[in-house]
Amino acid sequence: MEECLFCKIAKKEVPSTIVYEDDDVLAFNDINPVAPVHILLIPKKHISTFFAMEPGDGMLVGKLHEAAVKVARNLGLTEKGFRLVANCQRGGGQLIFHLHYHLIAGRPLGWPPG
Ligand code: AMP
Ligand code: ZN
Repeated sequence: MEECLFCKIAKKEVPSTIVYEDDDVLAFNDINPVAPVHILLIPKKHISTFFAMEPGDGMLVGKLHEAAVKVARNLGLTEKGFRLVANCQRGGGQLIFHLHYHLIAGRPLGWPPG
C-alpha cells in the first residue's frame, strides 16, 4: 500500500499533528477541519473500507472506538459530547480509502447530516 496517504501518516513518512497513539491506533488532526475539534482515528493496519475487514479486524475497530472516547475525555467533551463519523465508499463520502473515524465536536452539530 505504498501510495496510501494514511499508511504514510501511520509510518510518520507524512507529517501530522498526532493527538493519540498506541500500538494499533493513531489519531491526528484533520488537515481541513469542519469543526473546532476534528480528529481522524485510523488503524495502523491498512484496511481500505469496512467491506475489506478481515476476521479479527473487529477488535481493531473496537480499539478505534475506545481511542475516540479517550481522546474525547482528554479534551473535556464528556458533557458536551461529540460525533463519530465513518464514511464508507464514495457514496458514503469516503475520499481516503484507509478506514477511519472522524471525531467532530466544538460546535452545534445538526441532524440529519448532509
Ligand atoms: P473521508 O472523506 O472520510 O475519506 O475523509 C478524509 C479526510 O482526510 C478529510 O476530512 C480530509 O480533510 C482529511 N485529510 C486529507 N489529507 C490529510 C492529511 N495529510 N492530514 C490530515 N488529514 C487529511
Ligand atoms: Zn493505508
